[in-house]
Amino acid sequence: MPAKPSWTWRNVLQARGMVTGKITSTIGNGLNTYLWHDYWLPGGVRLCDLFSMRRLAESGLPCNARVSDIIEGNEWHFPTVPSKCTIQSVWEETRIARGHDKGSKLLWHSWHIPRHSFILWLPIKGRLRTQDRLHNQLLPRVPCMLCGVHEEDHNHLFFNCTLSNAVWRMISLKLHVTWPTVPWLHAWEWACDGYASRSQQHSHVLGMALAATVYHLWSERNRRLHHQQHGSVQKLWENICGSVRDRLANLNEVCLLPESIRR
Ligand SMILES: [Zn+2]
Repeated sequence: MPAKPSWTWRNVLQARGMVTGKITSTIGNGLNTYLWHDYWLPGGVRLCDLFSMRRLAESGLPCNARVSDIIEGNEWHFPTVPSKCTIQSVWEETRIARGHDKGSKLLWHSWHIPRHSFILWLPIKGRLRTQDRLHNQLLPRVPCMLCGVHEEDHNHLFFNCTLSNAVWRMISLKLHVTWPTVPWLHAWEWACDGYASRSQQHSHVLGMALAATVYHLWSERNRRLHHQQHGSVQKLWENICGSVRDRLANLNEVCLLPESIRR
């Protein structure tokens, strides 16, 4: 930056903080997205915000590593380097840190899909970058992207919105589970208590369905906000069901789903 920056430059620099986190990368094959420094996680956070650079450097990947470095096919492929801290250990550390929560059986079980559990974990902590958390910043507030009517916050987005409600009704009908119509965190508490009494396998499936639903609702919201692409309730259901079914098929456990949705 020059010693006497122009008015334009000064304003550009001042605006950096206001737009931080609102610009996200489209990952694609991951080659053009920086692993540590880009906003590629749907929750609007960067790995360098979650962990110190010293910890991240111990993973064995360089500071200019790309997301493609930890993807193989459709799976996370964490590097296995002999070091004190690997990317996998970062995930495991987060998982274990949550292990004492009563919701850990739904979030971090052995069948969980990492990106789904991570996105479910963010609203549990109230950390998704919903519109109510962005007020007084550069971009104007827009109503909920799913219904276009109400103000967007965690409670509205995942349970009170008419579109979310329609998705949950379909989940209940097809997966034979029920959801209470209560604020988001009360519903999470209800799920933790109610699912704890189920068998481990069914608890895993219900946790996967819950995480997949929140993940795909959030993804739909982001597609509408950033790409003006609108999916239907039916399409959302197909995405959610497909995610859970594919994961269970890989585990040879698809028989745990009701027969009508096994394929
Ligand atoms: Zn809405």
